[in-house]
Amino acid sequence: MYILGNGRIITQDKENPYIENGAIAVDNDVIIEIGNTENIKNKYSNAEFIDAKKNIIMPGLINTHMHIYSSFGRGMQVTGSTKNFPEILENLWWKLDKKLKIEDTKYSAYATYIESIKNGVTTVIDHHASPYHIEGSLKTIANVAEELGIRTSICYEVSDRDGVEIANVGIKENVDFIKYATSLNNDMIKGMFGLHASFTLSDETLKKCEKEMSVLDAGYHVHVAEGISDLENSLENYNERVVERLNHYGIFKEKTIAVHCIHIDDNELEIIKKSKCNVVHNPESNMGNAVGYSPAIRMIAKGIDVGLGTDGYTADMLESLKVANILHKHEMADPTVAWMESPFMLFENNRKIAKKQFGCETGILKTGAKADIVIMEYIPHTELNGTNFNSHILFGMSGKCAVTVMCNGKIIMKDRKIIGVNEEKVLEECREISKKLWDR
Ligand SMILES: [Zn+2]
Repeated sequence: MYILGNGRIITQDKENPYIENGAIAVDNDVIIEIGNTENIKNKYSNAEFIDAKKNIIMPGLINTHMHIYSSFGRGMQVTGSTKNFPEILENLWWKLDKKLKIEDTKYSAYATYIESIKNGVTTVIDHHASPYHIEGSLKTIANVAEELGIRTSICYEVSDRDGVEIANVGIKENVDFIKYATSLNNDMIKGMFGLHASFTLSDETLKKCEKEMSVLDAGYHVHVAEGISDLENSLENYNERVVERLNHYGIFKEKTIAVHCIHIDDNELEIIKKSKCNVVHNPESNMGNAVGYSPAIRMIAKGIDVGLGTDGYTADMLESLKVANILHKHEMADPTVAWMESPFMLFENNRKIAKKQFGCETGILKTGAKADIVIMEYIPHTELNGTNFNSHILFGMSGKCAVTVMCNGKIIMKDRKIIGVNEEKVLEECREISKKLWDR
């Protein structure tokens, strides 16, 4: 049993948003009580006490769209033109993913999960691609997540871009992994059915996916109308817009994550809304790839559950929060927008999306929720209270403030030291393996 105490607790629970000198009692994987430090200490005197030293205690962060495989792209030399989004895919990401062997996938997972934990992230929903070494890739990633103690949902991105045979192997990998994750019967590892995007998926492949999914209890995880080229391809080849086309195959379900949804019209918004599926907004990635402006604010106003991801651009959810905040102000030329919507995506909707995947309460500090908790090094220099904490998070913190991280009741980082593995050694191996991959 643990107590995380002597901290300023931001709970993200509307009933009890902030406790000035608070403590959280954790038994096994669950929060059993939150309250004043002295009271909690007296009540659970046998528990191990973790001193937050007046810093912030808040829920572990959730990243609802990530790409583990992209981690070895950092610092890699890009050859060929990258003047538009299709060229960025062709000359950067698809060159990288083709080279990935199982060992590269394994170490990419170490790199990404370690960096996520170091940024206070306790849940990662990932989208994987390694077209020439697909079989077993998801289980490899899951094993790394298990070793590090992080909560994760993973999928393989099915695509016809490398031929129909590789698409079929991708389908099988999703099916096998969803079944495996179901058999684990825990709330730490889950599977989704990954699809790349409409423009690299044939009707035949989508039909096969639909057939396999008819007997599985999982959502799809798919890029939707990210670049204008996805829309153009759909209109030209199928005479329909992207959401309309994918909708024929039952893609949009309550557990589905439709990533980006940039080039969509009102009818498509309506389809998404009716389906109750989730959208994930990735502000930095969208700006970096210059794919266009996400209608995230409009989708939220419509009542669509729009969460916040990073798309491999960073592992720091607070960076994503900051960029979402200024992107929408800048684009709409209105300094009053996105104050509410940005934290709403990160703290409310990501929690809802995670709950649909994992079936448990995370991203909130309250009795009965899973003990996914992070201590962030931050001492405020102005008053911090139950109505202004989002402003302190936005302007005062970054992911690097994470000092100690607990996931599912286990300490997975203590005083900035990763617990599950020898971090220094693993990152050295990552550098060696990624160098070899670059040289292939
Ligand atoms: Zn993505």
